[in-house]
Parts: sequence; structure tokens; C-alpha cells
Amino acid sequence: MTIEILPPRLANQIAAGEVVERPASVVKELVENSLDAEATHIEVQVERGGQKKLLIRDNGGGIDKDQLVLALSRHATSKVHSLDDIESIATLGFRGEALASISSVSRLTLTSKPAEQAEAWLAYAEGRDMQVQLRPAAHPIGTTVEVADLFFNTPARRKFLRADKTEFHHIDELIKRLALSRFDVGFALSHNGKSIRNLPRCHTDAAKLKRLQMICGAGFCRELIQIEQDAGTLKLSGWLLKPMACQVQNPSQYTFINGRMIRDKVVTHAIKQAYSNVIADTSLAGYVLYLDLPFDQVDVNVHPTKHEVRFIETRLVHDFVVQAVEQALQQTQLNVDDGPHS
Ligand code: ADP
Ligand code: MG
Repeated sequence: MTIEILPPRLANQIAAGEVVERPASVVKELVENSLDAEATHIEVQVERGGQKKLLIRDNGGGIDKDQLVLALSRHATSKVHSLDDIESIATLGFRGEALASISSVSRLTLTSKPAEQAEAWLAYAEGRDMQVQLRPAAHPIGTTVEVADLFFNTPARRKFLRADKTEFHHIDELIKRLALSRFDVGFALSHNGKSIRNLPRCHTDAAKLKRLQMICGAGFCRELIQIEQDAGTLKLSGWLLKPMACQVQNPSQYTFINGRMIRDKVVTHAIKQAYSNVIADTSLAGYVLYLDLPFDQVDVNVHPTKHEVRFIETRLVHDFVVQAVEQALQQTQLNVDDGPHS
């Protein structure tokens, strides 16, 4: 038996297995990078369900010419400098793996122009040898990442891709979730050259409701309870569908924890428990809820995709969510009950 260090490309491809499952996972990593770069507008172009091309363009801070190559290498990040940083992580990314992983399984072009740099530069990397080529380019302030031929060199992965329509549906679902997590950022999504979603930045509550309606549907927005519960360190806000309106299959069910889109078992269970007092089938409960708690009360570094979290005080979080949702639901029940008299 001989022990050998994996060549970089192979190491990246193995890491890609964890992070890059399908086109939607590429979009997630790249849009999160744009959000971390403080972009206020993000455009996502998809061709053939993302199997042919994915293009993410932002107006964020950009990457310096001399950092472009570094940005594409593994464990290269500007977001974490010590283990302590991980404990209080505020950015969406931090592993420094996404660009390296994606470029190892696609043909990736990274074009960027920071505000303080006179011209834009482009870095091109292709799975085969991980050699990066640099050349000048034309680009406004911000960054564009183009990912072509995803999984061209990993046939096993490619085989698991579904029909274009299905892969695009996953991307659309992701954009919806991201757009619900950042009302202050504009999003545009197109498929095969056709505009599918255009969500301008929201500066007012009315604009927020409009976005909510564009994402969750008009039916959802007609029967809403707004919730805003603050118990010191724990905060729950967002919207609940009125119990009497919980009648349609597949209602919008979105939860966010500290701004990250996370579907957590503890939180979901708590919401359903609260709804179980007022509706028989809790799978029909509709909600868009934002839970905020101190960074040191939750561990986001559980899985590379960061879809999961671990709470330090699970019970406390669970009971707070139950009580907050129950109270909001009860409030409307009362209003309904006194309705005719008032
Ligand atoms: P991570 O996000 O975990 O740091 P990535 O591989 O996703 O790792 O990105 C590597 C680095 O490249 C980031 O830390 C950031 O400095 C830079 N970067 C990536 N995308 C963008 C972008 N859209 N705008 C500005 N900088 C970016
Ligand atoms: Mg990242």
C-alpha cells in the first residue's frame, strides 16, 4: 500500500461531490458569493436547465486582478482568517471551496472589475489541468461567473442530472428562496434567453408584499398574518397563512435562520405543532418565517452545503417558535370570533 497526496484536480473533484450536486447547487454557491460581495443586483442566466450554461452576474465588490487565480484555488477565502471567525460567521460562504470545486467539474470563466481597478480581467479554468489563464476583458464593476458544460468530465455525475425542466425548476425554487431572504437585493432569472423572474429591489413594505406575492402567489398574500415576536435574544418574524386559508396543496413553506435559507426539523416541527391546534392537516400550513438568534447559539458548519444547523439550546428554540406562532394564530382566531360584533 502506498499513501499519496491527491493531485489538486482530483481533490477538488472529490470535494465537488459534496457541494456540487446539480446545477441548482452551483447557482446557490455563486449567488451566495454575490451576496457576500454586497451586490444589490444579481442576474442569473440558465441554458438547458443549467447543463449547457449558467451565468451569474453581480454588481458587488469585485475581485482584484491578482486575486483571480487565488479565488479559484481550494481553501482560498477572504471570509475566514481564524477558527474564531467560524464561531461568529456572518457571510454565507467561508470554506473557500465553491469556485475550486465548480471549476474542477466545468469550464469556468470568472470576470471581474473592482471599483478601484481601471480595467476588468478574466480568468478561465477548465477541469482538465486546473491551469488558469488570465486576460483583460470588458466588464462593469462587479463579477460574472460563467459555468459551461457542467460535469463534462464526470460522466457519473452527469448521469444523475434530470430533464432540463426539472433542473431549472430546482434553480427557480432556489432563486425564490434567496429572494425571500434578501428583499434589499434585486434578482433576475432567465431560461434559454427567456425572462422568467424579474424581482426589483424592495425599498418599501408595499414592495416587499409585492415580491412575496410574485413568489408565493396572490392567494397566499390575501390571507396573511404578519408576525413579529421578540423574546430578547430570540426573534421570529414573517408571515403566516390564516388557518381558514390553509386549504391548498403545496403551500409556500419557507424558513430562514439568521438570514440563511434553512429547513430545520426543530423549527418545522414547532410551526406544525402550533398549527395543529387550529387545522387538521398541518401539511397545508403556509408560512414564510425568519428566526434570528445570536450567532453563538447556532452552528452552521454542520455540512458543506450549510443547509443544516445545530442549535445549542434546541428545546428553548423549539418552545419559543411554538409559542410565538400559537400566539399569532390565536390573535386572528379572536378577531374572527369577534368579527360580526365589532
Ligand atoms: P468562499 O465563499 O467560501 O470564501 P468561494 O470558493 O466561493 O469560497 O470563493 C472564494 C473567494 O472568491 C471568496 O472568498 C471571495 O473573496 C471571492 N469571490 C467569489 N465570488 C465573488 C464575487 N461574486 N464577488 C466578489 N468576490 C468573490
Ligand atoms: Mg462561496
